[in-house]
Amino acid sequence: MSRASSLLAFADTVRGFMPRAEGLALYDEARRVARERPASTWLEVGSWCGKSSVYLGAAAETSACVLFSLDHHHGSEENQRGWEYFDESLVDPHDDRLNTLPFFQRTIAQAELERTVVALVGHSEVVATHFDQSLDLLFIDGGHAHDVAWRDFENWTPKVSLGGTLLIHDVFEDPSEGGRPPYEIFLAALASGQFVEHAHEGSLRALTRVR
Ligand code: SAH
Ligand code: MG
Repeated sequence: MSRASSLLAFADTVRGFMPRAEGLALYDEARRVARERPASTWLEVGSWCGKSSVYLGAAAETSACVLFSLDHHHGSEENQRGWEYFDESLVDPHDDRLNTLPFFQRTIAQAELERTVVALVGHSEVVATHFDQSLDLLFIDGGHAHDVAWRDFENWTPKVSLGGTLLIHDVFEDPSEGGRPPYEIFLAALASGQFVEHAHEGSLRALTRVR
């Protein structure tokens, strides 16, 4: 089995919120960026246990790109106890908080992607303020609460380079399928005139920065 197919098969086994078809679309987008812009810098907001990081990392390593994977690792609102996407096995008994960092680290180690996928552990808005590198690929898949999603949009999308790729997950046109904020920021990206959509798969939207 080739390195890429074994990584894609491994990604299937990682817990997370990325259907296979969307993961493969993410990989295809990232492969194109890796080809067009070797050794470029990428970032994803929302690591969780590293599932999307494996899809992106599998592409990144083909041309020495680096993916920063950003998360405070304490989960979003909807991951907390009593909410829809709570998983007791991710709770750290020392402080009773969710902690996905050990799971993320295990995923990246098992995938042998430690020189390609680099964890940034912290709050998205804090890191963004002190992060000055331009990005040839940005994947927004962090918190879906209104303020969190909008801050990710406002803080991170200006760092996408001209011709660079912006990927947004959980974009649902129909409100019965999911929350509004990812859809709202997708519309805001289009309305800004800076981005045009070039592909979509399920709730994953792919845009190019045109100005
Ligand atoms: N991409 C992942 C899923 C990410 S889930 C996958 O493929 O499985 C969303 C993640 O965003 C959660 O892990 C949560 O901890 C993180 N998150 C939410 N708000 C955040 C914030 N303000 N700063 C950093 N991380 C945040
Ligand atoms: Mg998602």
